[in-house]
Amino acid sequence: MSDPSMIELIRDAADKATARGDTIAARNYYRAVLAQQPHDIDAILALAQLIPVVSERQRLIAQAQVLEPNNPAVLAAVAENEKLITQGLKIIVVPNNDSQSSDTAADAPPVVQRPIVMCAVHATMEATLRCTSCDRPMCVRCTIPNEVGQLCPTCRYKRIPERYRSNLRHWLIAGGVSAVLATIIPIPLVFLLSIPFIGPMLFLAGGMLIGSLSAQITLRLTAKRGQPMIMASGIGVGIGSLIAMLILFGGNISLMLIVLTVLSIALAVRSLQQTLN
Ligand SMILES: [Zn+2]
Ligand SMILES: [Zn+2]
Repeated sequence: MSDPSMIELIRDAADKATARGDTIAARNYYRAVLAQQPHDIDAILALAQLIPVVSERQRLIAQAQVLEPNNPAVLAAVAENEKLITQGLKIIVVPNNDSQSSDTAADAPPVVQRPIVMCAVHATMEATLRCTSCDRPMCVRCTIPNEVGQLCPTCRYKRIPERYRSNLRHWLIAGGVSAVLATIIPIPLVFLLSIPFIGPMLFLAGGMLIGSLSAQITLRLTAKRGQPMIMASGIGVGIGSLIAMLILFGGNISLMLIVLTVLSIALAVRSLQQTLN
């Protein structure tokens, strides 16, 4: 469904955006051209020049080389890119409007040089975008597309509902509550273990009890939910169960008991997930 006149319009818009320095718009236009004509050498090279991420630019230039290895514009782009890499890539070169036929630096049209902007979070990464909320520059590692555009890690965190924003203090409470319950609850149950069939069942029910009780208490104390809270509680249950086993059985830990304890921890974590998710 490619309409040649439409593609020319987009290409024209891309060239104009490049000329006025709007590299983000220009990149989007060239990508739109490539979506219709993936083998468009001019668009590939123009896009490569506009991309500050080294690996991405190299990928595009390599793609152009595969398509037209002897095209002078491709060779010039390869040489230019190698030169930039040996210079340490401190500068990106944004070409002027009609520089696609440029061969060498000497007779190329004047270029606008501007420093690479680094990511506000990752000091060694080049920023390719800005946060749509706070306008800080961000790198590809920071960018997670969102319904309102690209958000930086800080703004993304601010958008998480309050009840899912937990910190170390909440995790310690969650882990502590679970550890205490997992230590105490097995004590009465252990006496039932000698009853065939019913005993182990009750022991497993204890696992569920540990999970749901610690989830309820943790919610009361912290009002926090989410994966980190479940993980902290789960670790607490594991530690508590281990302590309970050592207290109750000392050196006489049987395989059966280990299996029962692992199952009971799994059930505890399951009920934690149901409540804290
Ligand atoms: Zn932000
Ligand atoms: Zn970053």
